[in-house]
Amino acid sequence: MSTIPPNQSIATKTLNEALERSEKALHELKIQKLALDHHAIVSMTDPQGRITYANERFCAITKYSQRELIGKDHCIINSGHHSKEFFLDLWRTITSGKVWQGEICNRTKDGKQYWVQSTIVPLPELDGKLQGYISIRTDITKRKLLEEQNLFAMKELECSNRELDAFAYIASHDLKEPLRGIHNYSQFLLEDYSALLDDEGCDKLETLKRLAQRMDDLIGTLLRFSRVGRTKLDLSPVNIGDLARETCNALQAAIDEAGAQVEVAADLPDVVCDPVLAGQIFQNLIANAIKYRGRDSGQVEVGWDGDPWRPVFHVRDDGIGIREKDFKSIFRIFKRLHGQDKYGGGLGAGLTFARKIVEHHGGRIWVESQSSEGSIFYFTLS
Ligand code: ADP
Repeated sequence: MSTIPPNQSIATKTLNEALERSEKALHELKIQKLALDHHAIVSMTDPQGRITYANERFCAITKYSQRELIGKDHCIINSGHHSKEFFLDLWRTITSGKVWQGEICNRTKDGKQYWVQSTIVPLPELDGKLQGYISIRTDITKRKLLEEQNLFAMKELECSNRELDAFAYIASHDLKEPLRGIHNYSQFLLEDYSALLDDEGCDKLETLKRLAQRMDDLIGTLLRFSRVGRTKLDLSPVNIGDLARETCNALQAAIDEAGAQVEVAADLPDVVCDPVLAGQIFQNLIANAIKYRGRDSGQVEVGWDGDPWRPVFHVRDDGIGIREKDFKSIFRIFKRLHGQDKYGGGLGAGLTFARKIVEHHGGRIWVESQSSEGSIFYFTLS
């Protein structure tokens, strides 16, 4: 009977354990590869970039068979979208042992373009030799298409907004001149010919003058409105608390006359904005909060919440409030919810200005309110 020397049985045991461990590791690796192949488009190349492996997803998206791919380099799927420098940078990165990540536009066998988000990893060296590279990609064609569509729509919108602003500017500028003529001639008639007119005639001329003046105001508003969209923002870091307090100072006479009180929160943060334009937002909102106060109201509060890097500012009042059905229409130009001379009058453009300035900054403005319960106007500046 042969007996195994004790040192040999220890060696066999150790070998068996190592075998078991490597089988387990191999099994885990197979599972991970299976999962990766399910999720991603994977290929491997030798150090020269010749394809040594392409998974099913790679074949499915490129429409090439494995046989057609193996031995070729990735030029086979080059769409011509990227510059030479783009690929030089990619090669420079991976040949220096670093991981390259980026979005690549490729081309299928039948000439269609598709986009992938790629990660290319240099394989660890073996015996001092570079083994090649592994590329893992996900198909982002749909996302890129959507991005392109959005960009196109945005550009179109910007273009039509610019055209509209230019149109409003030219139209209103040209309208001002004949209007001034109507106003001035009505005045001359009143001054020089009133003796020839009866009272009714004079009244009618006065009305003509008043209407011409109102039209001039409306056109002036249109002009200013179009200017906001056409001017570049003069951005700088601004303390919104200081800005709101300066606005209150400018409105002090109206605040006192109304017996109102405006409280500005002490901790309003700094934001990057155009201070002159942002001041006009507060000017319009605070002036409205005072103007549309109820009989026993007049408490106005300027505050903020949200994140300091994306604050939501608000102007809250305890005034007459706004019905929900008017939440949108009040931001339309020349829209008033009241008669022309009610609540101190107005052209119905303050909120339109505020919205335009906010949107020019990339922000949003909205209102929450209930009839007779006061209103809160919220806005962001980014
Ligand atoms: P204007 O004040 O000149 O009419 P705005 O554009 O500033 O123009 O406001 C549009 C309308 O929205 C106002 O006519 C008013 O009916 C309503 N409104 C604005 N702010 C308030 C407020 N704080 N409380 C109640 N109603 C308001």
